[in-house]
Amino acid sequence: MAKTIQAIRGMNDILPEQTPYWQYVEETFRQLMQAYGYNEIRMPIVENTALFKRSIGEVTDIVEKEMYTFDDRNGDSLTLRPEGTACCVRAAMQHGLLHNQVQRLWYSGPMFRHERPQKGRYRQFHQFGVEAFGLAGPDIDAELILMSNRLWQKLGMSDEVTLEINSLGSSAARQQYKDVLVKYFEAHQSELDEDSQRRLHTNPLRILDSKNPAMQLLNENAPKLIDHLDDESKQDFEVLCSMLDAAGVSYKINPRLVRGLDYYSKTVFEWVTDKLGAQGTVCAGGRFDGLVEQLGGKATPAIGFALGLERLIELLEMPEEVQRQNSLDVYLVLAGEQALVKGIPLAEQWRNQLPQLKLQVNCGGGSIKSQMKKADKSGAAIAFILGDDEIEKNVLAVKFLREKKEQDLIELNNVAEYLREYS
Ligand code: ATP
Ligand code: MG
Repeated sequence: MAKTIQAIRGMNDILPEQTPYWQYVEETFRQLMQAYGYNEIRMPIVENTALFKRSIGEVTDIVEKEMYTFDDRNGDSLTLRPEGTACCVRAAMQHGLLHNQVQRLWYSGPMFRHERPQKGRYRQFHQFGVEAFGLAGPDIDAELILMSNRLWQKLGMSDEVTLEINSLGSSAARQQYKDVLVKYFEAHQSELDEDSQRRLHTNPLRILDSKNPAMQLLNENAPKLIDHLDDESKQDFEVLCSMLDAAGVSYKINPRLVRGLDYYSKTVFEWVTDKLGAQGTVCAGGRFDGLVEQLGGKATPAIGFALGLERLIELLEMPEEVQRQNSLDVYLVLAGEQALVKGIPLAEQWRNQLPQLKLQVNCGGGSIKSQMKKADKSGAAIAFILGDDEIEKNVLAVKFLREKKEQDLIELNNVAEYLREYS
């Protein structure tokens, strides 16, 4: 036998047993976006490689080592999107959505990064993304945070996540801070790990973002960006904090929160959990006031966040009705030639009468016994048994599969009524 072909490592199939959970989260998110007046945008999964190099930054984990980049048949360098913000900005610019107007957008879909697969870290993973353009904050910053906060509430997981915020300041302030930071790390050069050595003169801020425990103490004692903010950023950050206080959202100011991507400025935030080990960030976002201009557009203030669905779903305790979503109400058993012909149009009629009904018709024949086995396996609450005898008498038999209850006999033209009462 030929060797079977397997999925790519780190790219998961989401099986029918799991999809109700995904649908539940997706639907909850979609409704939330609607409630705040955000509109969905859908972008292609593949973009020109230059888009990510120019936006995310050359000296970032993503661009340095995680992108799925390939030449297409024309020799153009393309990349499977590792994140959505750059794509969203590209699309919004290309279609003139940013001309002197505010845009509140959201998207969802797969992202691709060549990382070492482990729990909560995959090579194809899924994000919800939200981006607001044309607003300089901090009111919109608060809106995004409140919106994510409401999502946790709706999903019943507020206890699982905590909010961390920081400000990265203006790019000028950050430049000055970088000099201070480089001086500090240069004075401790021997304590830097290999990654940090490399980043010292390319992207020193990223050293603060290091996940290496050996770097922790050094990072904790480093000069803090928040002490080097420009006046405007400082004031905006204070207003944001007071807005969150007024809304009753608790947060921790984390001065080492710098985010892994180059394009962030001013407000940054993360929702983190301690329940997923090292993969603790569920939702991450921030301002990217320079990105539109950096990609060739007119300077446009912007803020967004991205939320990892795999991590979110891992954390969720699913409501029972979601767990039951795949199970049927009725399984229709057809015994005899007449029944076989009449069964399908009858089922259609019931579906017309009861649009919510989850009904499956036995296909592929089989004895009553084997059909009843299938009915049981289907998870249906009841089985309808339609044989030629029953058809002649214009009735069908109802068998209860999940409760101890006598079999029923009902009139064929009474079925909808019966089911309405039963449910
Ligand atoms: P991390 O620090 O965990 O590597 P990141 O800073 O690279 O995350 P972002 O680029 O900010 O992550 O992406 C936003 C969110 O997307 C993350 O908070 C996380 O929930 C999710 N995410 C990122 N990378 C992966 C991955 N490889 N597998 C699953 N989820 C991911
Ligand atoms: Mg990462």
